Amino acid sequence: MLRFAPSPTGDMHIGNLKVALLNYIVAKQQNEKFIIRIEDTDKKRNIEGKDKEILEILKIFDIEYDNVLYQSDNLKFHQQFASHLLMERKAFACFCPEELLEKKREEAKKNKIAYRYDGTCEKLSDEEVLNNEKPFTIRIKKPKEPISFKDEIKGELTFLPDDIDSFVILRVDKTPTYNFACAIDDMLNDISFVIRGEDHISNTPKQILIRKYLGYDKEIKYAHLPIILNKEGKKMSKREKASSVKWLLKEGFLPQAIANYLILLGNKTPKEIFTLKEAIEWFNIKNLSKTSAKFDIDKLRFINREHIKMLDSLELSKELGYFSKEIGDLAKLYTEEASTLNEIKEKIDKIFSAKNPPLEFKENFDKIVKAVKEAPYFEDFNEFKNHISKETNLKGKNLFKPLRIALTGAKHGPNLSDIYKHIKNYLGEIVK
Ligand code: GLU
Repeated sequence: MLRFAPSPTGDMHIGNLKVALLNYIVAKQQNEKFIIRIEDTDKKRNIEGKDKEILEILKIFDIEYDNVLYQSDNLKFHQQFASHLLMERKAFACFCPEELLEKKREEAKKNKIAYRYDGTCEKLSDEEVLNNEKPFTIRIKKPKEPISFKDEIKGELTFLPDDIDSFVILRVDKTPTYNFACAIDDMLNDISFVIRGEDHISNTPKQILIRKYLGYDKEIKYAHLPIILNKEGKKMSKREKASSVKWLLKEGFLPQAIANYLILLGNKTPKEIFTLKEAIEWFNIKNLSKTSAKFDIDKLRFINREHIKMLDSLELSKELGYFSKEIGDLAKLYTEEASTLNEIKEKIDKIFSAKNPPLEFKENFDKIVKAVKEAPYFEDFNEFKNHISKETNLKGKNLFKPLRIALTGAKHGPNLSDIYKHIKNYLGEIVK
């Protein structure tokens, strides 16, 4: 079983979408089930409706799953397993007040050393614990030995006991911390392979430790994906618009193109332009780069153009608010100069809107419009052009510049003869 485990705490980031795509691909390849686990245990950070939005985005990207689970539904199990670890003395109650811990954390920061729990409450006797009525957290005991695991991308990784530390598994309000809930749920959900972002790498030994203490010995495979960098080579933050899947979709990037780009990024693939279905045939996690790749919006724009060209023309036309195969073909022509659906729609809408010629062309423009309105139907652009030339007595750029504006509303664009092929049946609407 594989899983995608988003937190409903914000807009879906392209890094999360990449994680979802790769989990889906691997689940399909291995014929394993794939679940969505909404990690909603941090109530303060949850945003109402984000879970539904995430599921909608998965649908838009054709990422199918077998089930949706909510982590908070497992609260009872998280608490039971924490009590069990307490009984087994693999965890202990910690009464250290938050303010004191905060002070110690700050002190460590000041001295430029990594903060570690100092073990105060681990030393308390049973009596001291039982007689204490103060609120407490539950901390797991740090391991005695280092913990190693093999990452499918990064290779063998080892973490020292001090780096794992005696960390909190249940908060004062008896809700589980992220690491605890995640480790337990991966066990309860019978997960076989975890693919997630490398920001979770230091969590993995903690989650392995939790399950080891519980005696769960099924090995879970891990692959941590390098984070996606921005142009400057820094982590792409949530504040950068292009990091939001919703924003990219709103801008008119096709889901197929975004998926293509994210699978391609930092990967060795047999081709550059492909569909999700094709990627399932050849994707190999071993081909992913260990190092982070930069997000390049120009590359995404190129891939988007290629996917626009691959669309069914009638479907494309509908996406743009029209209903004709010809308009779809016309739109494909505009991939010469436009990359997103929004940019292309702007070009097409201009063709069908009232035109405002610059003053210098106004006179010739009016003559041309009149001639186009009165012209019979011409299949061929040259015949059409010759006819307009004869009727208006205009030639060369005196003809072409205003004619282009009359037909497209723009001064520049694809070849008029190519455009004409697709608009010859709509001239009446275009020069109305
Ligand atoms: N909820 C975590 C996140 O959104 C996912 C952790 C995981 O995949 O284990 O970053």
